[in-house]
Amino acid sequence: MSFLSDLVFEARVTAQSVADYVSGNGLRLGVTGLSRAGKTVFITALVQALTSRGTRLPVFRAESEGRIGRAYLQPQPDDAVPRFAVEDHVRALTVERSWPDSTRRISELRLTIDYERQAGWRGGPSTLTLDIVDYPGEWLLDLPLLGKSYAQWSQETLEASAAPARAPLAADWRGFTALLHTDAPATEEVARQCADLFTRYLRASRTELYALSTLPPGRFLMPGDLEGSPALTFAPLPIAGYIAPGSLAATMERRYESYKAHVVKPFFRDHFARLDRQIVLVDVLTALNSGPAAVRDLQDAMTDVLQAYRAGRSSLLSTLFRPRIDRILFAATKADHLHHTSHDRLEAILRVLTARAIAKAEDVGATIDVIALAAVRATREASVKHGSEVLDAIVGTPLPGETIDGIGFDGLAEAAIFPGELPADPKAALRGDGLALGEGEGDYRFVRFRPPLPEAALDGQLTVLPHIRLDRALQFLLGDKLA
Ligand code: GDP
Repeated sequence: MSFLSDLVFEARVTAQSVADYVSGNGLRLGVTGLSRAGKTVFITALVQALTSRGTRLPVFRAESEGRIGRAYLQPQPDDAVPRFAVEDHVRALTVERSWPDSTRRISELRLTIDYERQAGWRGGPSTLTLDIVDYPGEWLLDLPLLGKSYAQWSQETLEASAAPARAPLAADWRGFTALLHTDAPATEEVARQCADLFTRYLRASRTELYALSTLPPGRFLMPGDLEGSPALTFAPLPIAGYIAPGSLAATMERRYESYKAHVVKPFFRDHFARLDRQIVLVDVLTALNSGPAAVRDLQDAMTDVLQAYRAGRSSLLSTLFRPRIDRILFAATKADHLHHTSHDRLEAILRVLTARAIAKAEDVGATIDVIALAAVRATREASVKHGSEVLDAIVGTPLPGETIDGIGFDGLAEAAIFPGELPADPKAALRGDGLALGEGEGDYRFVRFRPPLPEAALDGQLTVLPHIRLDRALQFLLGDKLA
C-alpha cells in the first residue's frame, strides 16, 4: 500500500515537473531554519521588497534592470497547507512597528512575478510563479529516524542524555524511566507522564543551552498542528531485546513507528521533496553569544540539515523521496546588529561553520552559497566620539523593556551601541577566542531593536523596508529564473 502511494506520489511529482518545465515558470522556494532564526521576517521582507516599488535592490538584476513589471500574491494552490499570513506580518512590521509572530508550522504563499526576459532570442514578457514554503528547521532533524528502529533510537537517545551537559536537564525523565517496568502492561497515564518528562528535557536542552539544540523528534520541539496530540505521546525506553506485546515498550514502539509513518514521512514526501531551492536561515550571532560549544553545535546542526538534502541521492531513503533542490543558500540573519565592517566577517564565520557540509555539496548535486544579511534592517550606523577616539556605533530604538547598562527603554527612545567587532579569523569564533569587543562593552548580548520607522514607497501606498544584502540573496535564489 505504501509502496503504491509512493509510486503515485512519484508520478505526481514527475507530472508537476513536466508541467513546470513546459511553461518554464514554476519555482518552489523552501525557507527554513531553527526557531527564531528569522524565517517569518525574511519571507515578509522578500514579499514586501518584490511587491513594493522603491526598495533598493541593486544586486538583484531583474529589479535593477527595470525588468520586473508587477509582482502580486495569488491564491495559495495547496488546500491542505495553511497560507503564510503575510498581510498580518506586514502590518505588524510597518504599522505596529513590532516583530511578527514566528513560524510554528508549515505554511505557503504564492507570488507571481511578471517580468521581461533579457533581450536576445528569448526576449519578451514572461511570468514566474514563486511558491514560498515556510517550515520549522526542527522538522528536518527527524529524517534519521526513518532509518532507525524504536530500540535503536531509544538506545541512542538514552546514551546522549547521559552526557555531562545533558544529564542534569534529563535527570527527572531518566529517574522516572529507571523505575519503569517496560514489560508491564501499558497504561496511558504512565505513557503520558513519560512523554511529558521527555519533552520537557528536550525543550530544556533547547532553552537553557543553545548548544543542545539538535535532538529529534522535531515535533516535540515544534509540534505545529500536533500540539497536545496523542501522536506525540511516546518516549525512549531501555529495551533489552524482546518487546512483549501489550507492554509499555510495545505501546511506545507502535507510537514511534506511527510518528514516522504519519508525520515524518509525509512531510518529506509531500513537502520537502517538492522544493526546487532552499534558504537555510541561521542565527549565528546568538550562537556566538552563547559561546564556543554553541557554535560547534550549530556546525553539527548544519551538517545534519544538509544530510536531509543528500539523503535522497545516496541512501536507502532515495526510494522514499528524491529531492530536486539545485540551489541552497545558508544565510546568517540579523546582520544589522553589527557595523558593516563586520558583515563580511559574519559571512566568513558561517562559511567555516558550513564548510564540512559544503565539502559534500557534490553529493547533494546543488550549488551552495553563504551570505550574511538582515531581511529587515532595524539600525543605522553612526560614528560616536568617545574621549579622543571615534567609535563605530549602531543606532536603533530598543524594544520596550530592553536595558543597556541598567537603563530601561520604553520603545520610543533611540540608543547608540557599540556592537564590537567579530574576529578577523573566523576559526577564532569556533575556538571562542578573539571575540574582542569594544572595551567595557561586555559581550555579544545584543540589544533587541524595534523594526525601523517605515518609509513610504514611490506609489505612496506600500512601505519600503530597509535591508542588508537581501538583494544578493534574491539574485542567488531567483536571478537565473528571471534572466
Ligand atoms: P522564525 O522563528 O524563524 O520565524 O523567526 P522570526 O522571523 O519570527 O524572527 C525571530 C526574531 O528575530 C524576530 O522577532 C526579531 O526580533 C529578530 N529578527 C529576525 N530577523 C531580523 C532582522 O532582519 N533584523 C533584526 N534586527 N532582527 C530580526
